[in-house]
Amino acid sequence: MSTSIQTSTGLVGTTLEGAADLTRMERIGAHSHIRGLGLDDALDPRATSQGMVGQKQARKAAGVLLEMIKQGKIAGRAILMAGAPGTGKTAIAMGMAQALGQDLPFTSMAASEIFSLEMSKTEALTQAFRRSIGVRIKEETELIEGEVVEITIDQTTGVGAKTGKMVLKTTEMETVYDLGQKMIEALTKEKITAGDVIQIDKASRKITRQGRSFARSRDYDAAGGDQRFVQCPEGELQKRRETVHTVTLHEIDVINSRTQGFLALFSGDTGEIKPEVRDQINTKVAEWREEGKAEILPGVLFIDEVHMLDIECFSFLNRALEDELAPVVIMASNRGVTRIRGTNYTSPHGIPIDLLDRLLIISTSPYSQQEVHKILAIRCEEEDVEMTEDAKDALTTIGMETSLRYAIHLITASALAARKRNASEVDVQDIRRVYALFLDEKRSVSLMKEYQQEYMFNDQQDSNRREM
Ligand code: ATP
Repeated sequence: MSTSIQTSTGLVGTTLEGAADLTRMERIGAHSHIRGLGLDDALDPRATSQGMVGQKQARKAAGVLLEMIKQGKIAGRAILMAGAPGTGKTAIAMGMAQALGQDLPFTSMAASEIFSLEMSKTEALTQAFRRSIGVRIKEETELIEGEVVEITIDQTTGVGAKTGKMVLKTTEMETVYDLGQKMIEALTKEKITAGDVIQIDKASRKITRQGRSFARSRDYDAAGGDQRFVQCPEGELQKRRETVHTVTLHEIDVINSRTQGFLALFSGDTGEIKPEVRDQINTKVAEWREEGKAEILPGVLFIDEVHMLDIECFSFLNRALEDELAPVVIMASNRGVTRIRGTNYTSPHGIPIDLLDRLLIISTSPYSQQEVHKILAIRCEEEDVEMTEDAKDALTTIGMETSLRYAIHLITASALAARKRNASEVDVQDIRRVYALFLDEKRSVSLMKEYQQEYMFNDQQDSNRREM
């Protein structure tokens, strides 16, 4: 389901209500056990929490970064997560996405996705950048019950003791009527002058004036809590409600691009968007910001396997990061010193030095046996697989000797083997069985070397011949 909204700003915004349903339907993915970064309030990583295990240094760094992003303190910064394969770079990025909340956009892409015939590399990157910038649009509409409201009331219509207007601000109130009553309660207890901002928090029962404690909670209780207050007819309240929609810059681009139209948002077939359209949108958004109608929310763009970008893309990134409307860009790479695509030069992670120089680097390190055991146990739970402790130990040994990913892949396969012999729990024999059935990378390479003469186009053989 999707809805499109005509906003008071003149452009059409879109909310993707169906997105949540779709994610619920998603199969168990490689990172579906990750529910956050697993940090405590002081941003210190718990040993195991929210599906995250170990890698404490990197998780803490990611947490600090996240805090800065949430507070809107950074945008246009780039971070590189560097580390060996399977050390949790993507998992940490996914943890950040979960912890970021719904309002701040998080876009994830593999660098190779930008090589398409449908649009240029720089257009694909520009779209990814703009998908990662949220625009929170505010507008005034009629108040309905149960909304977050700001109310102005003419005091003479209430208890009649005072004149002038005062603003009553509150959150999570049930009805307008309820609100008026609470305000009058406050009026009858303490001196209030026109223009005072009274805030009542229903959950904590705290009443504040100008942010300071105003009436004690026991006064609130004594006045009958929610039940008994002086009458205040609804009609005497002047009502105002600010509704808020959050859309991304890219959504605004697509909706307002004549060639595509908003349906392209659902097909994903947005094609290239003209620079003039983007310029107009930027100008419009800047106007809304000045008028207090909109707020920019720089989110996160995650580019996995960033070494797959080429020199043109890196040069584009250098410039795009300086743009006023740039998100935080997090890149990940498992490469050491390697060739920069599109050149004959080599560089750490295949990233040009001038871009590397702008990056904050977070590194991930290999896991201990205990950590691998814990991650595998979490994955068993996620994949709904019962496994004996002995089998988990065996799988951990395999994980340490081959790779964590390979060991994770054996979980479901071994569950099928267990089911075949009518067992409800995976045991060591099932692990052994699937280990023999599916080769890991090392065994595959050694087998290939053993039978290399029988393969076609064997470079190894050719080079051997050349050497002979
Ligand atoms: P590559 O460089 O090959 O892309 P990576 O560093 O991005 O590897 P991930 O894909 O994050 O590695 O990790 C491999 C698998 O292990 C994933 O299923 C991931 O969710 C899981 N994993 C890795 N690290 C952790 C961790 N610290 N806690 C929980 N799960 C983890």
